[in-house]
Amino acid sequence: MLMYVHVPFCRSKCGYCSFYSAPLPAGAAGEDLLRSYLTALLREMRRRAAQYGRVPVETIFFGGGTPSLLPGRAVAGILDEARRSFNVAADAEISLEANPESLLLSDFPGEARRAGVNRLSIGVQSLDDAELAALGRAHGSRAARAAVDVARAAGFASVNLDVLWGLPGRAGRAPSQMRLLALLKDIADLRPDHISAYELTPEQGTPLAGALERGELVRPGEKSLASMYLAGAEYLESRGFLQYEVSNFARLGFACRHNLGYWQGQDYLGLGPSATSTLRNRRFTNPADLTEWIAATAHNADPPCEQIDTTTRLEEMLMLRLRTTAGLSFAEWRRASGRSFPADFAAPVALLRREGLAGLRRGYFFLTRTGMLVSDAIIARFFADLRTIITPSRGPARSRT
Ligand code: SF4
Repeated sequence: MLMYVHVPFCRSKCGYCSFYSAPLPAGAAGEDLLRSYLTALLREMRRRAAQYGRVPVETIFFGGGTPSLLPGRAVAGILDEARRSFNVAADAEISLEANPESLLLSDFPGEARRAGVNRLSIGVQSLDDAELAALGRAHGSRAARAAVDVARAAGFASVNLDVLWGLPGRAGRAPSQMRLLALLKDIADLRPDHISAYELTPEQGTPLAGALERGELVRPGEKSLASMYLAGAEYLESRGFLQYEVSNFARLGFACRHNLGYWQGQDYLGLGPSATSTLRNRRFTNPADLTEWIAATAHNADPPCEQIDTTTRLEEMLMLRLRTTAGLSFAEWRRASGRSFPADFAAPVALLRREGLAGLRRGYFFLTRTGMLVSDAIIARFFADLRTIITPSRGPARSRT
């Protein structure tokens, strides 16, 4: 099982962010809030262990929010409880998301490392001060550069840097491909082990989306975004960061086991407000409200649970596996559906291969990099075909081959 711990606090809210997080008040009010959060988190962990047993845990991921705002002893306390309640593997990957500024202000990196965190994911986003300010980030480029050294000095052998690309700009001055390549060069020069490069997609209701609606900022056009993606991915691979998912690149042996597990459909337990769990074909999501979630844990009230039916399971398998460069395994598809993927989808597979959008390799169907650019449309086509094959009431019919 994969374990996700949502830490819902940030110093301030970035202009593009729609994750559930709230600014952490300074002083005693902030300390009280942190204490209530930790009490509720440990209570929730013990409750899930009572419900599901001492399940083996291969990865733990602290996300948010800004987990590096937690005191180091809080991270240690959470991991101690995880080890008491579950069967955490001795070689578990334990990742923690951190913002550059919070790494520089205290001995947090050393404390987190000593508590057992062995992978640090730093939200650098850009190395351009003007871009960072436009994004509403609480740090500048100097802090972003210094954070990698701090992580290494604390003993982290596995460091990821998150970057954003496709940022909007003033009309007629949208960031160019050359600027993206310059950013990726600077990022690669910092010598991380892993790079997550996400296209900035403005989420509705955020200040950035508002600025776009009012025409104060403009996004690069679709063609420009597509060529940036292809050139950026090619550049990162030329620097030794192999692409293993739409937005993720790693040096050999440094792919994120937690995220890979998620894309490969492993069970995951989500703890904290807004966190989702998928366990034994059932899915539930905690309230995206700190007070409500704390009250729910105090009353042992579980969120509504949805049973995942065969069609949903197969749709998710398609959607998640095709995010990865490895792709979808025919053997796994047959185990889950009782059907032959190449036989059922012969026509779309042939068409996509002819167009250079997909390929077949040793029992796997995968999207090429160009295919990943239009993956939404490809997946929608597979979903439509899947619905003609699967009848929800009786599950999948057996296929011929
Ligand atoms: S630090 Fe991360 S989680 Fe917090 S507001 Fe910014 S983008 Fe969102």
